[in-house]
Amino acid sequence: MNNDLNVNELMPVLFVGHGNPMNAIYNNSFTKSLASEGEILKKLNPAAVLVISAHWLSNGTHVSVSPNPPTIHDFNGFPDELFQVQYPAPGATDLAIFTKNLVTSIHIEEDNIWGLDHGAWSILKHMFPLADVPVFQLSIDYKKPPRWHFDLANELRTLREKNVLIIGSGNIVHNLYLVDFSEKAIPFQWAVEFDELVKTKLINKDFDALIDYKDIGNSYLAVPSNDHYLPLMYTLGLSDKNEQLSFFYEEIQNASISMRSFIIGI
Ligand code: ZN
Repeated sequence: MNNDLNVNELMPVLFVGHGNPMNAIYNNSFTKSLASEGEILKKLNPAAVLVISAHWLSNGTHVSVSPNPPTIHDFNGFPDELFQVQYPAPGATDLAIFTKNLVTSIHIEEDNIWGLDHGAWSILKHMFPLADVPVFQLSIDYKKPPRWHFDLANELRTLREKNVLIIGSGNIVHNLYLVDFSEKAIPFQWAVEFDELVKTKLINKDFDALIDYKDIGNSYLAVPSNDHYLPLMYTLGLSDKNEQLSFFYEEIQNASISMRSFIIGI
């Protein structure tokens, strides 16, 4: 039996708003939405998951080639229970090297040290709880502007034909200066408005406006630094405007963090 995908079939691409690291151990409506998506995606039999996480910022672009990436607890001030979480998914060395060779516009560095940061494991733990799908990461060159990342993502499209499930993991609205970690925090109006504005532009496939996000709404409050916004550039750059886009979660958590998450291509 031939399990190869038809040439016209592409693995979907996702954007996930990961938010508070505690979501890794919470059981809430957000984590339940991840579990539901994971069940659907598992049936597509992905060869690997590639995560572009807001938590791997670098000089230059790096790809993780480790066959057994360690779980990185890249935060402070959270309960021990969160530090105990392990996500022992195997790496995807061959696909990581394929990714490196696929991109011709820049040189991508192989990285043997980086494991899985919480932008990856805190969501994958809910999507693929058995940790049985190989995972690798691509770093974000933090010196580069949004359009550069969008263009780089264009070069990665072949990975979707190779059955690689690609996830941009960040947050569309992310203001840690004004965050309220209470679970019952009331969303700021400007956070709701910017999130809705982005939602409309996603529905209209107005990618140029999303790349030039500084010109829309209260971006100075919603995106005071763009580390959590840049993963969105990869999700958009990997997709075609005629593909279906579906939101599978939307909420403002902790007053100033948008958990809006969507999938393209299914
Ligand atoms: Zn984060």
